[in-house]
Amino acid sequence: MDIVNANGYTNGHVANGMKMKAMQKSAVQNHDTKRVVNFNPGPAKLPESVMRQAQAEFLNYDGLGISVMEMSHRSTEFMNIMSETKNTLIRLLNIPDNYKIMFLQGGATGQFSALPLNLIRRSPNSSADYIVTGTWSAKAVKEAEKYGNINVVHPKLKKYSRIPDETEWNLDPEAAYVYYCDNETANGVEFPFVPETGNVPLIADMSSNILSRPFDITKFGAIIAGAQKNIGCAGVTLVIIREDLIGYSMKECPVVLDYKTQIGMNSLYNTPPSYSIYLMGLVLDWIQQNGGVMGMAKKCVQKSQLIYTTIAESDGFYSCLVESGARSRMNVTFRIGGPGGDEALEKEFVEEAKKANMLGIKGHRSVGGIRVSLYNAVTVEEVQSLVRLMESFRQARQ
Ligand code: PMP
Repeated sequence: MDIVNANGYTNGHVANGMKMKAMQKSAVQNHDTKRVVNFNPGPAKLPESVMRQAQAEFLNYDGLGISVMEMSHRSTEFMNIMSETKNTLIRLLNIPDNYKIMFLQGGATGQFSALPLNLIRRSPNSSADYIVTGTWSAKAVKEAEKYGNINVVHPKLKKYSRIPDETEWNLDPEAAYVYYCDNETANGVEFPFVPETGNVPLIADMSSNILSRPFDITKFGAIIAGAQKNIGCAGVTLVIIREDLIGYSMKECPVVLDYKTQIGMNSLYNTPPSYSIYLMGLVLDWIQQNGGVMGMAKKCVQKSQLIYTTIAESDGFYSCLVESGARSRMNVTFRIGGPGGDEALEKEFVEEAKKANMLGIKGHRSVGGIRVSLYNAVTVEEVQSLVRLMESFRQARQ
């Protein structure tokens, strides 16, 4: 039986506490030396300089003697962090005044509900059009179906490996909006164009490719994006919306997801994910200092091409199943040992990568194979090291 000591802990806890302290100490000692190559799909790699800045000001932000984590979300200091984050985003994406920006909780998944809850009533028969090119847009449909009449505008795809031909789309001019996922993270399918939807507002899930290429925001009614891939850490979801679309929410819409309320309160109706907003601000500054969105775009093409070229030159050892026009610059998916994939070989490749300190390349559980995520913070050199591994792995086994 454990004996309770003077501090109210049992002996077991004391022993565990000591073990914990030793572990923390060794983590601190390894702290600056160990970094792996992180190809995780999200949460994902953050720029190292951002992590160091966050670390440097963690305990004492801007000489205030307090961490951003400990600040009141209604303090002047936090308000400044939030407005600076917003202003940098406005500059990077050229967002005009008639668009509003929200920093919300609930993830992009929360927005799968929030979008119909806020917008579907704009249509006389509560309907919305969806384009389904992968796992995430399929999930968005499933959620939206709870709130209205959802039309998938094209014949269902047998495999998520292409963008359905635009000539097959059956768009409803009375739909509340047209929804699509600009980059399907699990499948590695990315739109090479912005869909044309006439007067019906276009809504995009850009969770995994926002700020990786320039786009004309005025072509969109709204954009949603979880931060944890390209623009920060988990916890905050970015929503950018044209102001004339606000004010149509269903009475059942939870107040935290109600765009009119949240915009009216500058995303402060309830406590916002304050630290995640701060970190997003640091990442946006880093993007600005590194060539802006165009700088990111050039690097994304260069990194993804390194892998797609290695696949193309592998005599079928590696195969990307996504059609060439729809291949993602952010999430490169491929099979090893033939188009059907040799699972044993793929497992071996993941293990070899791990031995070489490269993490996060196992394909999404619904897709299998390999997926390499190349978000903004991943460097060209890191991708080159993976390409070298792909080449040596093939030579040893083909
Ligand atoms: N959309 C896309 C394109 C995603 O990649 C993800 C997460 N991987 C989501 C939505 C869901 O995001 P969350 O987990 O933040 O709800």
